[in-house]
Amino acid sequence: MIALHGLSASKALGQNFLLDEQLLDRIATIPGKLKGQHVYEVGPGPGGLTRALLRAGAKVTAVERDRRCLPALEDLSNAFPGQLRLIEGDAMKVDPAKEIGEPFHIASNLPYNVGTALAVGWLSGETWPPAWTTLTLMFQREVADRIVAKAGTDAYGRLAILAQWRSEARIAMPVHRSAFTPPPKVMSAVIHIVPAVQPEGVRMATLEGLTAAAFGQRRKMLRQSLKAIPMALDALDQVGISAERRPETLDIPEWVELAKVFETVR
Ligand code: SAM
Repeated sequence: MIALHGLSASKALGQNFLLDEQLLDRIATIPGKLKGQHVYEVGPGPGGLTRALLRAGAKVTAVERDRRCLPALEDLSNAFPGQLRLIEGDAMKVDPAKEIGEPFHIASNLPYNVGTALAVGWLSGETWPPAWTTLTLMFQREVADRIVAKAGTDAYGRLAILAQWRSEARIAMPVHRSAFTPPPKVMSAVIHIVPAVQPEGVRMATLEGLTAAAFGQRRKMLRQSLKAIPMALDALDQVGISAERRPETLDIPEWVELAKVFETVR
């Protein structure tokens, strides 16, 4: 496909293509049975993962910014009639819930330059469960580690809390850099996220406000990093968490409890 359509990888667009069909078929099994299910894919590129999703029987809506890829994707659309809908444009500006109008999975080998921002957007909605039923996303290994990190580790921070406070997040598959064309400098991993029940009495914005302030000054004690938020230290006291602790030592249930009490005292 790449040779046929004269596609050379663009660094600016984060293009590292996956061409190994076996690997792509394995990635397409991660969301679960896809026959007849909707899948939203960001950045299909020459269409390797798209083809695997279509082979698994999915109805795919794919957003690609690089118009050079569109002829290859149109060939794919003709090979799987009625299964592939293409949107040319920037995924940062597309609302898949509006485009698809039914529950959908998200599966993507994300472009590194917008991958984290997209995932943060999908995880940040106040409405829960979200319109998507699962996320199957390829990230640089370092970002994947931050998503699944546990309290007390260097990788633990806002992204881990965002991904885990109302979802199950795991690394489904490490992927060696040599699997990509061209190979990126770093290793990758596919993560799988499934929404869980949102704890009652906590809003996303409250939790996010507290963790942003605390992890914004990660080396500082909570006494220092939360003092600019009125009543945050009182909430800390009520929950019985020492203000001398640093943010990475609080596990996710502790963050949730703090946000819950903060909602009631502020
Ligand atoms: N899915 C293909 C694969 O696995 O071989 C390509 C993955 S490549 C890592 C990322 C793709 O995202 C590229 O095709 C790139 O053109 C596209 N892309 C980059 N920025 C984008 C954006 N803002 N919106 C939509 N697509 C984008």
